[in-house]
Amino acid sequence: MRQVIIIGSGPAGFTAAIYAARANMKPLLIASSVEAGGELMNTTDVENFPGFADGIQGPELMAKMQEQAEKFGTEVIYDDVTNLEFGDTVKSVTLGNGEKHEALAIIFATGSAYRKLGIADEERLSGRGVSWCATCDGFFFKEKVIAVIGGGDSAMEEATFLTRFASKVYIIHRKDTLRASKIMQERALSHPKIEFVWNTEVVGIDGEDAVEGLRLRDTVSGADSSLAVGGLFVAIGNDPRTHLVHDLLDLTSEGTIAVAGRSSQTSQAGVFAAGDVIDPTYRQAVTAAASGTVAALDAEHYLATLPEDLLAAAGDPEFASVTN
Ligand code: NDP
Repeated sequence: MRQVIIIGSGPAGFTAAIYAARANMKPLLIASSVEAGGELMNTTDVENFPGFADGIQGPELMAKMQEQAEKFGTEVIYDDVTNLEFGDTVKSVTLGNGEKHEALAIIFATGSAYRKLGIADEERLSGRGVSWCATCDGFFFKEKVIAVIGGGDSAMEEATFLTRFASKVYIIHRKDTLRASKIMQERALSHPKIEFVWNTEVVGIDGEDAVEGLRLRDTVSGADSSLAVGGLFVAIGNDPRTHLVHDLLDLTSEGTIAVAGRSSQTSQAGVFAAGDVIDPTYRQAVTAAASGTVAALDAEHYLATLPEDLLAAAGDPEFASVTN
């Protein structure tokens, strides 16, 4: 049995791991089998993480966080959690490979997942012109006309990045004002390859085997129109990844895991949550990292309240190495 298991490998998970490992809690961190590293793995330049004045690539930043966590004794498993059981004192985590790991405390830092438009053909044409990740798929859209949906920082960042490949990028937004930060707005608004389509929503996607065009509706007048594009990037935000704990933990009306005040304490003793999965507002790498710190400190304080014999039982982790 472990003292603490951390679920999630974004800035919140790895920062929790750095703190927990330095507090000699010998954490086990479960990184996803395919999405290890979290959202920053899909980002190019990170220019707002303190300490990197010249910016740093998202994947490099995550590699550094993992290296730091492992340096202090974090063990990392690349697999997906399939089931969780939260007993009063012992919590168990079952993985895709069937292994079951136990711990006295859990830090849940599963982040958030791309939001979908929810229109017909979005799934069918996924990977055939519909994408949620410009850095992953942008290369396939060389010299094409493409559209990005959304009015936040993600949409601005994706659109600006996609100008490296595309001949033209439309940003289609359902309002006439942007939610994105000033600097990201200005970059997109002043880019010669980017054209904004305001007050417009996508109601359909045309194309049999690949995206050929979009059916649009004006959100003010209700008028329908169409736009020929060879690709569609959906950048309309994220939803917290809570499917594993829907029946186990209290959630907020916004769908994030409910925590007490400024702490990471969930509705279940010994279970802490950190990062985007508790944060509907800020969702920055820095705030997620800070939130991971809070969770590790809360877990440490919680463990200090448990009987000595339980802690002794959790002192000798039986680590089954499943890395790739
Ligand atoms: P946001 O929630 O900020 O923005 C989502 C955008 O998508 C909004 O403009 C919203 O419209 C629109 N939208 C939502 N649902 C739909 C829908 N069903 N159909 C059409 N449009 C829709 O999400 P982001 O992913 O852009 O950003 C999330 C957080 O991450 C923010 O805090 C942001 O600052 C941060 N971020 C920072 C970056 C950076 O600093 N480099 C890069 C990327 C993200 P409406 O405005 O009408 O609600």
